Amino acid sequence: MTIIVCRASEVARYRAIMRCPICATRRRFVVALYGWYSPRFTCCGCGSDFEEGLVRQPWKGSRSVTRELRRRAAIRQAKESWDSVTMSRREAMDALVEDMRL
Ligand SMILES: [Zn+2]
Repeated sequence: MTIIVCRASEVARYRAIMRCPICATRRRFVVALYGWYSPRFTCCGCGSDFEEGLVRQPWKGSRSVTRELRRRAAIRQAKESWDSVTMSRREAMDALVEDMRL
């Protein structure tokens, strides 16, 4: 059996400060833009991803032994992503528009 997983390619990222519903306070977010798909917002405080109104917490459902490790890894990854972002929101949006041109 062959399993094919389709995924939109990321066009650009930018930083934002927004209120996180999980942390219940303002947090740093990395916003990833995808052509023709909704953006993904990742909180640097709790590591949660928000996409199309859904919350994704990859550590949920893990065994209790690994849950905290996976949660910390998600937060560390979000912070590393924050540090690596070089585009402003405007530049990211311009890159998205350029990518969506046919
Ligand atoms: Zn959060």
